[in-house]
Amino acid sequence: MSVVGFDFGNESCIVAVARQRGIDVVLNDESKRETPALVCFGDKQRFIGTAGAATSMMNPKNTISQIKRLIGRQFSDPELQRDLKSFPFAVTEGPDGFPLIHARYLGETRMFTPTQVMGMVLSNLKCIAEKNLNAAVVDCCIGIPVYFTDLQRRAVMDAAQIAGLHPLHLIHETTATALAYGIYKTDLPENDQLNVAFVDIGHSSMQVCIAGFKKGQLKILAHSFDRSLGGRDFDEVLFQHFAEKFKGEYKIDVYQNARACLRLRAGCEKLKKMLSANPEAPLNIECLMEEKDVRGFIKRDEFEQISIPILERVKRPLEKALAETGLSVENVHMVEVVGSASRVPAVMKILTEFFGKEPRRTMNASECVARGCALQCAILSPTFKVREFQVNENFPFSIALSWKGTAPDAKNEATENQQSTIVFPKGNPIPSVKALTFYRSGTFTIDVQYADVSELQAPAKISTYTIGPFQSTKSERAKVKVKVRLNLHGIVSIESATLLEEEEIEVPVTKEPEKESAKMETDEASNDAVPPSSNETDENMQDAKGTADASGAENGVPESGDKPVQMETDTKVPKKKVKKTNIPVAELVYGAMVPTDLQKAVEKEFEMALQDRVMEETKDKKNAVEAYVYDMRNKLCDKYHAFVTDSEREQFTTRLQEVEDWLYEDGEDETKGVYIAKLEELKKQGDPIEERYKESAERGSVIDQLVYCV
Ligand code: ATP
Ligand code: MG
Repeated sequence: MSVVGFDFGNESCIVAVARQRGIDVVLNDESKRETPALVCFGDKQRFIGTAGAATSMMNPKNTISQIKRLIGRQFSDPELQRDLKSFPFAVTEGPDGFPLIHARYLGETRMFTPTQVMGMVLSNLKCIAEKNLNAAVVDCCIGIPVYFTDLQRRAVMDAAQIAGLHPLHLIHETTATALAYGIYKTDLPENDQLNVAFVDIGHSSMQVCIAGFKKGQLKILAHSFDRSLGGRDFDEVLFQHFAEKFKGEYKIDVYQNARACLRLRAGCEKLKKMLSANPEAPLNIECLMEEKDVRGFIKRDEFEQISIPILERVKRPLEKALAETGLSVENVHMVEVVGSASRVPAVMKILTEFFGKEPRRTMNASECVARGCALQCAILSPTFKVREFQVNENFPFSIALSWKGTAPDAKNEATENQQSTIVFPKGNPIPSVKALTFYRSGTFTIDVQYADVSELQAPAKISTYTIGPFQSTKSERAKVKVKVRLNLHGIVSIESATLLEEEEIEVPVTKEPEKESAKMETDEASNDAVPPSSNETDENMQDAKGTADASGAENGVPESGDKPVQMETDTKVPKKKVKKTNIPVAELVYGAMVPTDLQKAVEKEFEMALQDRVMEETKDKKNAVEAYVYDMRNKLCDKYHAFVTDSEREQFTTRLQEVEDWLYEDGEDETKGVYIAKLEELKKQGDPIEERYKESAERGSVIDQLVYCV
């Protein structure tokens, strides 16, 4: 089973795989370690990753990039609206309020969801991993930003499914970095804690996490972020600066031309990178617009001056993370900087000033997330033996449940009102399961929501669960236990609901110690007073289920009845037993793909991938005809010269010329079958010549051998 980690960046992606000797970042078709996160739609096929980057300048309106910004967000999201202003492709609001991307594909304008496009990029990354490993890749770990909402996390899971992947763990990017940092450290303290701050400034966002390391483990102490502070913001500052300048100097308005915008942005990005190493840098773009060549120049000081509004924001996430841990800067022992946008010297200066120490770059700043993801996948997979290292993750948001309940009002009369409770407070470990008990007479609903949306740009409500129908045989208001899970990916769901009914049964008395499940039931009983009452830990819940299943208690079967036990006496005493019955739970996640749509998207991706493959094969077959023409023409004058008559050669050369002309004219755009037939037709003529040459060459070598033997 393959073990793979993907860093899906807003700009570029990295694929890391686990091999027996360690973790390797693998190369794509162009022998590059980074693969652009983009899809370019063409008239006959899609070009994904590096192939897409090659055609993006020619086809800017149909090149979809920055998918990470679009995924799982509502069209009305202000951040998304701001991003759309600088995107060269068209995005509109779908009937469900979510964005739809427009692109000309196969000769017509089509619409795709961001999830679909992410699925396309992921399938390209999957192929890269498969080619390198020479094996199928399904299980994987994918890095996600810590600020991703429940919906965004679900969208990544859907995109992965579209690509035929099965993520074992969506891991926070900074946690993956912390894991890649800590697992190789052999000098971690046994008792003390080494606190390290990880700062990742990528293409579009900044993330900070402070982790405490001890021997064999790490604990995430705090996460913080700025969703819209990354390298592209510096490009934008330079872009606006030069766009304005060129309006006056060259009388051109690049905003009016998508291709000019794209080229100027690319020029500004290059300029920014130059400024990381040099105190000043030039900008030269030929034929930017209206056939005008443009020239510009900027000093690092001026760049820093115009970037002040961005630079001022760098400190905020640092302060937040530190405040959350309660640590003083002196107690943050080290600062590790990753993400390529952190190379801007002014950013490093702010980090140094804030922490009072020089940040370090001991990690491979662009590859550490992918490496961490591959390590996490190796930890979860049975294929590899990985050094014991425990990751204690911390969930960045508070999640509440809300339901209609009855409570006494001011006059002490029972009235129905909305009640809520926080089930997973900010900082809760991941994964985690909690159980709540409700007293209800019939079907009821529970909403899952964010307790605080101030840090999020998302609606508070995540999902609604309908619990029921159920019928209690005993009391009017039955006791219902609801299990809520915050899974490994940071996705919250109500996993199950159980009707608990007490019944009296006769149990033979034995000297055996009390069974675990009975204990669990007592625990539950003592916690039942108020709905919701009991918060149980993950392990407890696992235990409860395991014991219940094993004993058959769920079906109301007496626990000891189906096992041979040693009886001391055969007296029977009445005992209270809880009968458990599963209740149906229906899930509605706002904005998530429903299973039928997901299935359709999987099929659509399969169709598009098939079309891409057919086009690639067609290109290969066409190239084969062209190569044959050149090769045969040369050989007819050289190697095969003595094996053809003059008229035969002349006739075949003319035919080869005709085919070459055809390839550039009528035959330029033919189907795979036509090229195969054309090659066969030429070979019919060429093969006998080749045969004659080969026979002669073999005879020659036999004679050589005979001469040698003599
Ligand atoms: P994200 O983490 O936001 O999803 P990503 O992982 O694709 O995005 P990175 O590859 O970490 O992002 O960083 C890309 C950014 O780093 C780009 O904006 C790029 O211009 C910038 N960058 C790369 N090299 C340098 C450099 N030498 N100086 C300044 N910025 C740089
Ligand atoms: Mg990144």
